Amino acid sequence: METEKKTSLNFIEQIIEDDLSKGKHESIQTRFPPEPNGYLHIGHAKSICLNFGLAEEYNGKCNLRFDDTNPEKEDVEYVDSIRKDVEWLGFKWDGEYFASDYFEQLYTFACQLIEKGKAYVDDLTQDQFNKIKGTPTIPGKHSLYRDRTAAENLKLFQDMRAGKYANGEKVLRAKIDMSSPNMHMRDPVLYRIKHVDHHRTGGEWCIYPSYDFAHGQSDSIEQVTHSLCTLEFEVHRPLYEWLIRELEIFPTRQIEFARLNLSYTVVSKRKLLELVEGKYVSGWDDPRMPTISGIRRRGFTPQSVRNFAERIGVARRDGIIDVALLEHAVRDDLNKKANRVMGILDPVKLIITNWPEDKEETLKAINNPEDESAGTRDMPFSREVYIDRADFKEDPPSPRKWFRLGPDREVRLKYAYIIKCTGFKKGDDGEIEEIYAEYDPLTKSGEDTSGKKVKGTLGWVSAKHAINAEIRLYDRLFMTENLNDIDDDFKNYLNPNSLNINSRAMLEGSLKSANVGDQVQFERVGYFRVDEDSTTDHLVFNQTITLRDDWQKKGGN
Ligand code: ATP
Ligand code: MG
Repeated sequence: METEKKTSLNFIEQIIEDDLSKGKHESIQTRFPPEPNGYLHIGHAKSICLNFGLAEEYNGKCNLRFDDTNPEKEDVEYVDSIRKDVEWLGFKWDGEYFASDYFEQLYTFACQLIEKGKAYVDDLTQDQFNKIKGTPTIPGKHSLYRDRTAAENLKLFQDMRAGKYANGEKVLRAKIDMSSPNMHMRDPVLYRIKHVDHHRTGGEWCIYPSYDFAHGQSDSIEQVTHSLCTLEFEVHRPLYEWLIRELEIFPTRQIEFARLNLSYTVVSKRKLLELVEGKYVSGWDDPRMPTISGIRRRGFTPQSVRNFAERIGVARRDGIIDVALLEHAVRDDLNKKANRVMGILDPVKLIITNWPEDKEETLKAINNPEDESAGTRDMPFSREVYIDRADFKEDPPSPRKWFRLGPDREVRLKYAYIIKCTGFKKGDDGEIEEIYAEYDPLTKSGEDTSGKKVKGTLGWVSAKHAINAEIRLYDRLFMTENLNDIDDDFKNYLNPNSLNINSRAMLEGSLKSANVGDQVQFERVGYFRVDEDSTTDHLVFNQTITLRDDWQKKGGN
């Protein structure tokens, strides 16, 4: 899959080219390292595009590694969804690994540190340790267990593994520097006791490595040349490098980049899980969710996500990206790919009174003006059609301002004829029930000999051929642009009107055979995707995005 071309190197590419030109590596190895404790979101998509994209660009390799060192929160359901999402984005991983595959190796590394006098078993509880830890400006004190001999530490560590101690009774710490200004260097935890089963190793282990211990060492084991992570890990880098040095293992280089934050949404698995568990959404793949599974179901395309990632690039400073830019990328891609069809969301019947009752005519409609190879389709035309209620005004403004239909006004029905409104009927509730018009036989599209000109062209569907469908219309999930700026519960900012269900819509009959996953443009309305909830006699469409482009309106390009 080709993404949009760019012109200059970003700072990570510069580092890589520099390392390659100095002969540090023959080729590069990257990895995408999700923790399988939730579904991936659009922020992860940025990291995926970056890691896999760089490997592609430099003819290197990229692994998929599950960072599964927190057994309480992890699950195979998440592992499966992560594989599916990465594949959907169009990437193939080189090796598939699990940090838990390395548990034995990591245990050996820990023993090596103990033997070198660089790690010790500490009996202080978390609370007790916090009291002696100090602050960035006040040096910490040593734990009274810090000077245990290597032999004693080794024995205790073996006993920890053997299950002799309860949760929290002991930890293994790196012995670094309790007065370091970097708090991560103040004897960080390498192993903790957790008597819980792991989704892959079952009951085999009751000690688990900390993130800092597992992550860098896994990178090294896989000979990852460049380990890309988000900026919050910058302060962990000295520890990352200390462990590599002390263990004398493959020197992976950690490089940090800014997280993706997106306006009007949250990109945090923890918060997204809260929305799922609290039933604020229908699930991880609710089309309003910024998860990869959510945007896929909504109808965003892999190419649009990749173009978006390319467009935002990588930076060294955190910021917030306008969701309109992502939506712009989606529109841009669908404009090229999605066939146009007629879908009338708010139908009102229009009767062409001078058209014979039983007469039907087959018209040709263009599937995609952006793609000639998409061809044409047949559209049946008959005496009764549906047009959108918004296209008719009983008392319209001047014809210079209102090009659509009104009493005595003329418009073209797309691909068909020019019609003139001759009247309308209202129901008891005051709503327009039917509109009457006459067509001009000389004005057939493509064969017009009338010389007439009209400014308005309306969408329509033939009433007796049309099908009814359920249309799910989405608005932003949150009402606030920057959810990083709030102090109270993020759920207070949920948009109560983020889902609107329309059951009135009438669609052209050709959609009868639509399949789940099909994507179309309802002309003049927006892009829609056939949802998984559809059945043979009840189609459900998700509105992917409207045609109105806020990004361009704001002056983007
Ligand atoms: P979350 O806070 O949502 O749980 P995480 O960083 O804990 O995210 P991981 O599964 O640990 O999630 O992340 C896998 C990879 O994706 C990491 O390298 C991480 O840095 C990257 N990543 C996660 N969120 C973002 C984001 N918003 N923007 C860019 N990269 C991200
Ligand atoms: Mg994480």
